[in-house]
Amino acid sequence: MADDIILSTAGLTKDFGGFKAVSGVDLKVRRGHIHALIGPNGAGKTTCFNLLTKFLSPTKGAIVYNGRDITREKPAEIARLGLVRSFQISAVFPQLSVLTNVRIALQRKRGDSFDFWRSEKVLAGLDEEAMRLVEAVGLGSFASLTAAELSYGRKRALEIATTLALDPEMLLLDEPMAGMGREDVERIEALIRKVSVNRTILMVEHNLSVVASLSDRITVLARGQVLAEGDYATVSKDPRVIEAYIGS
Ligand code: ADP
Repeated sequence: MADDIILSTAGLTKDFGGFKAVSGVDLKVRRGHIHALIGPNGAGKTTCFNLLTKFLSPTKGAIVYNGRDITREKPAEIARLGLVRSFQISAVFPQLSVLTNVRIALQRKRGDSFDFWRSEKVLAGLDEEAMRLVEAVGLGSFASLTAAELSYGRKRALEIATTLALDPEMLLLDEPMAGMGREDVERIEALIRKVSVNRTILMVEHNLSVVASLSDRITVLARGQVLAEGDYATVSKDPRVIEAYIGS
C-alpha cells in the first residue's frame, strides 16, 4: 500500500527551558522502508529519536505507531509493541561470549527468570536460535569470543543481533556507522540491508554515502524543523539543504 504508514508524528515538539530542540515535526515513515533522518549537528535528530522511544516526553505533539497513539506510552511498552531502538534494551556484556549475549537477549524477550537456566534442553534450543542470529549478522566464527574481544564494527553487529533477538517490527538505528573504518561500514551497510527485509528502519546517520545507498526516503532536519523530505536525489539538490549543511 502506497500510504501504509507505520510510524508518524504530528507537530512533535520538545522545548528545553524555552529552547525548541524539536519544533512541530511531522514525520511519516512507510512500512518496509529504510528511512534516514539527517541534518547538521544540533538539528534535533537525537532529541527526535529520544522522543520516539520515550526517553524524553514531548512538550507538544503526537506519535502514532501502527495506528496507536503511543505519545504517553512507557519505553518498555513501546519496545513490546515492536518499535525497538538498537543499543537501547540490548546492552552488550563485554565479558560474556557473543553467543551468550544473544542468548540472554532471547531470554529477555521471553521474560524468562533465571530459573530457566536450569533446563539443559531449553538452553540448547535457545543456543541454536542464538547461533542462527549470530550467523545472520556475520559473526558465526566469533561466537565463542567475548564481546570485549571483537573489533568495533563487529561489536555493533553483535548489538544488532541482540536487538534482532527481540524480533522488532521496526528498528531505530542511532548512527550505526559512527566511528567505523571503511571495511566495517561496508559490512554494517550490508547487514542493515539484510535486516531491513520485512522490517522498517529509521536511522540517524552522518555518512551521506551510506544514506544515499541505503535509504528509500530521507527527512532533513535543521534547527528542530523539517527542512526537506524525499529521496536522496531530491533532497541532496535542494538549495535549502545544501545551505543548512554548508552553514553548519
Ligand atoms: P542532533 O542530534 O541533530 O545533533 P540534538 O537533538 O542532540 O541534535 O540537539 C538539538 C539541540 O537541542 C541542540 O542545540 C542541543 O544543544 C539541544 N539539546 C539537546 N538536548 C538538550 C537538553 N537535555 N537540554 C538542553 N538542550 C538540549
